[in-house]
Amino acid sequence: MTINSPITPEQIRKSADMLKQTRPAYKYLIDFYEEMFVIQEESKSELDLDPIIIGQEQIKLKIDKGISLINPDQFVIDVNHAKKLLIKICSIAGQKLPHLLDASQNISAGLSNNSFNAETLFNALLKNDPKALNKIAQTINVNEDALIFFAFEAIAPSIQACSSQLSYYLKSDSEAKPSQEQVPWKKGTCPVCGNIPQMGILNQDGEKYLVCSLCLHRWKTSRMGCSLCQNREKDKQQYFFNEEEKEYRVALCDNCKKYIKIVDLRELVRAFYPPLEQLCSIHLDMQASEQGYQGLVQNKI
Ligand SMILES: [Zn+2]
Ligand SMILES: [Zn+2]
Repeated sequence: MTINSPITPEQIRKSADMLKQTRPAYKYLIDFYEEMFVIQEESKSELDLDPIIIGQEQIKLKIDKGISLINPDQFVIDVNHAKKLLIKICSIAGQKLPHLLDASQNISAGLSNNSFNAETLFNALLKNDPKALNKIAQTINVNEDALIFFAFEAIAPSIQACSSQLSYYLKSDSEAKPSQEQVPWKKGTCPVCGNIPQMGILNQDGEKYLVCSLCLHRWKTSRMGCSLCQNREKDKQQYFFNEEEKEYRVALCDNCKKYIKIVDLRELVRAFYPPLEQLCSIHLDMQASEQGYQGLVQNKI
């Protein structure tokens, strides 16, 4: 598969099944996430989103200056779609994750009796407005982290659809030259939305890409050195990997003391779905953090 191959719900299920076999410790989490990932992907066909239009001159300027195309609060959300998805995700969590039963029920009840406005919640998330989020969490008596988790998963399909629409702007220069499809981006943050990466990928040719933790955009980056702080001193960069998981390696940087997990698609025997790989490699986060390195993205629930 190529770096940007779309994934089908059947492929997600197959990859999830394989991971449940090889990493039984994750079965409990996969049982929930698999259902959520599948409805997120399936629901994308129902999205109704206006495209985000950016003028050619502005795009050129942004790319030249290394500025992301938009800020996260400029993503367009299909509120009705996200609201329906939020209720479905809460229902799955209620069945699969007993520790989130109360939270999921309170969010669903709050939505149906209009205790809070879904659009206000989604905007507060995108604007990173802790005060507004805290107010909603208190109103419906839900832990704020749980509320943020559910709401983010509900708007994820809208965000990813906007991102894939916007990513065409980044390819516009190179359409005539497919071999130069993506020019390496010099920054360690997403060229679409400016967020940090959640993981790295090595494609079939050994080229390195990063995957955005918010919009899942994948961008090409330099193979050498730290993807995060751009340090290139060889003695400051190291890796570790586990013999039985050849598809993963963890890049450690002694300059910024951060690490990033990298999936080598040449060694991967299942369809690649970044959120699933992120979930089923928490043991690597633990190993890296035991060695004193800091992750970029906090793991979910
Ligand atoms: Zn992004
Ligand atoms: Zn670094």
